[in-house]
Amino acid sequence: MAQKNLILLGPPGAGKGTQAKELSARLGLPHISTGDMLREAVREGTELGLKAKAVMESGGLVSDELLTGIVKERLARPDCVGGVILDGYPRNLAQAAILDGILSALGKDGARALELEVADEAIVSRLGGRRSCPACGAVYNLASSPPERAGRCDRCGAALVQRDDDKEEVIRERLRVYHEKTAPLSDLYRRRGCLATVDGGQNPEGVLAALVKAVG
Ligand code: AMP
Repeated sequence: MAQKNLILLGPPGAGKGTQAKELSARLGLPHISTGDMLREAVREGTELGLKAKAVMESGGLVSDELLTGIVKERLARPDCVGGVILDGYPRNLAQAAILDGILSALGKDGARALELEVADEAIVSRLGGRRSCPACGAVYNLASSPPERAGRCDRCGAALVQRDDDKEEVIRERLRVYHEKTAPLSDLYRRRGCLATVDGGQNPEGVLAALVKAVG
């Protein structure tokens, strides 16, 4: 059976993380989020985390070199044999070329991209209301999916936090970086005939159904 090496594309706050988790469960493929890996490194205070912290807080992109090692190591693990769902990587054209090289060096199939389309204004209001659980990783939105008890995680009861990079001025910077650096990836995968675009503005169930259909 062909591998399903899938890349979720779309602006920050488009729902890539949420959809990646759902798709991961449906398709039985590991969800690989470079943002989660970097946040973990920052929490643990590793060398990678120390290097990445300030850039992440400003809304910029961590250097390609820092990402290459962790992505290569992750994709080489046995659970990736049937495919993967990449969320947040690649983030620019250089990383797309690096990913091509990693997949081919590991003897894997090329990647296909699934793009979630969401307007900038919708992103600003979505991300401004996003809260996450630092203990178990659950994600809430004050407007569309609030926790049952204000400020507390439904699953584990920990106090919810707003990510530093979900503050409004940082969101605007992340969107600027997205349009400049990441959006060109859609054209790249479209030209290769490896892009499916889905309306990310609909409810999460609708988005998931459209993604599952696109994956085939
Ligand atoms: P995310 O959770 O995917 O929005 O990522 C949060 C932050 O981590 C981003 O704003 C970047 O600073 C950094 N980051 C995550 N993935 C990458 C990547 N592939 N390349 C560079 N920086 C990244």
